[in-house]
Amino acid sequence: MELFGSSGIRGVALRYLTPELVLDIAKAAGTVWDTDRVAVARDTRTTGELFANAAASGLASVGRDVDRLGVVPTPAVGHYCESVGVPCVLVTASHNPPEFNGIKLVGPDGVELSVDVLERVERRVLDDDYAHANWRTAGSETVIEGVADDYVDQLLDSVDREAIADAGLTVAVDPGHGAASIPSPRFYRELGCTVRTVNATPDGHFPGRESEPVPENLTALSRLVATSDADVGIAHDGDADRAVFVDETGAFVDGDTSFAALADAELRPGDAVVSAVNVSQRLVDVCDANDAALELTPIGATNIITRTRELGDEGTRVPIAGEGNGGVFFPPYRLSRDGAYIGAKFLELLAAADGDPVSEVVAPYADYHFVRLNAEYDDTAEREGMLAAARAYVETADAEPNTTDGYRLDYGDAWVLVRPSGTEPKIRIYAESADADRAERLAADMREAVETGR
Ligand code: MG
Repeated sequence: MELFGSSGIRGVALRYLTPELVLDIAKAAGTVWDTDRVAVARDTRTTGELFANAAASGLASVGRDVDRLGVVPTPAVGHYCESVGVPCVLVTASHNPPEFNGIKLVGPDGVELSVDVLERVERRVLDDDYAHANWRTAGSETVIEGVADDYVDQLLDSVDREAIADAGLTVAVDPGHGAASIPSPRFYRELGCTVRTVNATPDGHFPGRESEPVPENLTALSRLVATSDADVGIAHDGDADRAVFVDETGAFVDGDTSFAALADAELRPGDAVVSAVNVSQRLVDVCDANDAALELTPIGATNIITRTRELGDEGTRVPIAGEGNGGVFFPPYRLSRDGAYIGAKFLELLAAADGDPVSEVVAPYADYHFVRLNAEYDDTAEREGMLAAARAYVETADAEPNTTDGYRLDYGDAWVLVRPSGTEPKIRIYAESADADRAERLAADMREAVETGR
């Protein structure tokens, strides 16, 4: 697809992403969707309103009535779409820097559109082919109040409220000035937690931190947890479909570690977990310990959604899926990511741990060694030679190969992955194991093999 990537359309606002482009996408989606009404929602970005206006205008011009949801977290959009049965044009750039914005298209089931529907929308844009309305059939607009409140009520009904309340937890929440700034702290408060907040004012300038929930952006949250009585810190990205955690000392919990801890609590023998080819050994080990299958897709949430849906259709239970960036799916809840819900599932773990601190709860999944190496190339021929060498190495290695996206080798206690960088003239090599020497050696051996193809 030319327009839609693995996470919708994203780019610098008013440079790459223009009102004209948003108008066209909305007209195309409104033409493809067989529905009278379409929702429009946005996150807190400074350009959100102008793009939401363009989207609403485009939809009305192809005869769709528009439900204006205002600023709401992406998972609240999912809840609204699912409960009302309307699709949505969502204006968000998720975790990207403040100057970015983007468009996600959500179906009437509350799940991001699958690739085949996105392709139909994209085709309409590229062909400039829309089902324009006339002055009688143009759509009208309704402002919908209380979408975030309804979402919080639904969240409260979806988790073990009593267990979490009984645990008497103090929770520090960092919504990063994003769309969950109001609803997420309210949710944890209504769950019976004592809530402290940082960066919890909706602000598209993101004055307190950048939107991506990575350790370097979470120093204020770490400090708050370390210097207060908080048991745990929870941070979201800008549209709040992800959650990562800080332990009781203020130390960042790796997203792969929290994913493995959450998975261990959900899995039963015969289940499957869907993740991407860069999945951590932590999750491999948790799947082995629970006799669950691990299904790996190309990197990107859309691929994980597609594969999870296929497995569900085949009758396989997939209680958890996702990636180690805090983007965890609980498909029995909804086939889209929900940062506040992920946070509450983590609080359920703490409640079940009966007073053990976060650092102890995640300790069984924390002690792994990750290695990342690069092999640089000068031109396409060299790149192809190196990838061919990687392929040859993979074919003869004493390990389980996976060629879904790059070349991955699973050794049981360790893995190595080779993929060309999408942005730089480099082949990236990753390896991971609980044994540091083993991870270092596997990565070095792979790089040596790759470099013979130069
Ligand atoms: Mg996001």
